[in-house]
Amino acid sequence: MNISYIFYALGNNAFFASRTFLPALVTALAIKFPEFIPLLDSLPITGDELWLVKDEVILGLAILSFIEELAIRNPDFARMIEEIDAFIKFAAILAINNAMLDPQVLEAIFNHAGTTGSTAMIIGVAVSAPVIFIARLRRNFLAYLRDLDEGNDLGLISLANWLENGWIFFGVFFLVFLPGLAFFVILIVLACVYLLEQYLKKKERQSKIECANCKELILPTATACYSCGTANSKIKNVGLLGFPKDTEAVDLQTHKYRLLSVKRCPHCANRKRDKSFDAQCETCKKYPKELGVDVKLYAEAIDSRLKEVLITAFILGLFPIIGLIATIIYSKLKLARPYSQYTGFGKSFLIRLITRVGIVILFVIQPVPVIGYLSCPAIALMYYHAWKSGFEEQYGLTK
Ligand SMILES: [Zn+2]
Ligand SMILES: [Zn+2]
Repeated sequence: MNISYIFYALGNNAFFASRTFLPALVTALAIKFPEFIPLLDSLPITGDELWLVKDEVILGLAILSFIEELAIRNPDFARMIEEIDAFIKFAAILAINNAMLDPQVLEAIFNHAGTTGSTAMIIGVAVSAPVIFIARLRRNFLAYLRDLDEGNDLGLISLANWLENGWIFFGVFFLVFLPGLAFFVILIVLACVYLLEQYLKKKERQSKIECANCKELILPTATACYSCGTANSKIKNVGLLGFPKDTEAVDLQTHKYRLLSVKRCPHCANRKRDKSFDAQCETCKKYPKELGVDVKLYAEAIDSRLKEVLITAFILGLFPIIGLIATIIYSKLKLARPYSQYTGFGKSFLIRLITRVGIVILFVIQPVPVIGYLSCPAIALMYYHAWKSGFEEQYGLTK
């Protein structure tokens, strides 16, 4: 029995769960140019006559990989294909695993000749199906990251993209040349991701509290139960990333705006997915309007943060580079995100572009004495004004 093939085909699931075309491209390159890998002169997986290694196929895969990379950077697109994503990936890995499953391998697996094409297909499906489960695991994990860092303000989404690309690029090569060893490394990595996800889920469950009336589990930051509407008597404050703090909220109205500023429902404190400020909450079905919050007062609540952020930025300005990066993250979370998360895509695209150019300029200026010191407060002001004006325009708040 050709155990290399089984390791290879199963291991592939870990890469195709991440991307559809990149793992296929790297596989094709690894088989076409084995001379780039030192120390190895024979391939466990062979394929000189394979369709996969033809120039036009490689070129096509390269173009598709590039398009996919651009597409997944758009959160709207990523969400749109989320439902069918696992099945597209299944089709891709099935094509690759079946391409590798040449007649010799098939014979070796069953130790006799004359195995039919349909048997090959059944084996192909069996060794490719895990991709559907791993793709789901990845989706849940990314959803968690997106909740934490919508708009990529902390750079977590970019970091995840880079890690995944690196994992595919090195992993696929490794898998083609040393299927057995690579397979066990993959198992360990997947187990770690799974355990981490379970841990995060458990932590989230544990942080919930029981509704005094209906006993449903509600978020400690909620002002009321999402199910029966009973008011929460001990509302916990909400942090900049949406997690509950240890302190209790003093003023109900202030707390509602704070929830909205981290894109959470002012009633049940669950995540709001919609980009519109006035949108209905998907969990409790309430509209912000019926909860006594107003878009204009929201903007005022955010504006009142400016002084504190500017003072912090002045202090951070004393530290070169680190102070600058800290200011970027802090002012993004405190001033930009409360506005950007409710700003439509056309407008945000332009604002993102302009603020990025601004950041580059301010980075260059920072080492200059005296003026450079003002870079940090300038970053805070730039984010604040750029996003505030976009938000005000969208919600008709400009006088
Ligand atoms: Zn309740
Ligand atoms: Zn709600």
